[in-house]
Amino acid sequence: MEGMKRKILLASVPKELTVLREVSTPVKKVDDKIRALVLDMFDSMRADNGIGLSAPQVGELKRIIITEYPHGKDQVPRTAIINPEIIWTSKKQVVDEEGCLSFPDLFGMVKRPEKIRYRGLDETGKPIEGKAGGLLARVIQHETDHLDGVLFIDQLEGDLYTYEKQDDTEKL
Ligand SMILES: [Zn+2]
Repeated sequence: MEGMKRKILLASVPKELTVLREVSTPVKKVDDKIRALVLDMFDSMRADNGIGLSAPQVGELKRIIITEYPHGKDQVPRTAIINPEIIWTSKKQVVDEEGCLSFPDLFGMVKRPEKIRYRGLDETGKPIEGKAGGLLARVIQHETDHLDGVLFIDQLEGDLYTYEKQDDTEKL
């Protein structure tokens, strides 16, 4: 099955921000429609070079998150979690950089628990439970926040920033 790239909602568009601030509802049944949505989410995330995405970001107010990061030592395998719940967090918190596909080119530092335990359902509807640290823990927390209308800008340590694109005319 192939997915279809969907438009990712942008926080800079007032009507889209309203949707991003909604609370998403649990998935009652993991059926082919949900699996098709998950495929669309992966296509949408990959097209924009993201490492995590939540269903509300493509305008579907359903509790679904995905993540994938196929590079380097922080590799995260293709993962979809339906109705994700964070059931434990470590006392130790870490501050690290985050971005968001709904805030293109903007970054900020966010403090979060270093490790988590989570549970939910996989794409077949089977219950899953896991422990995560590092990048995976951060992405799962960021994406699960989206399901409650919470955005990373709500939790910044400091200001948002951008990496200015190198202008060729300036490189003399
Ligand atoms: Zn995000």
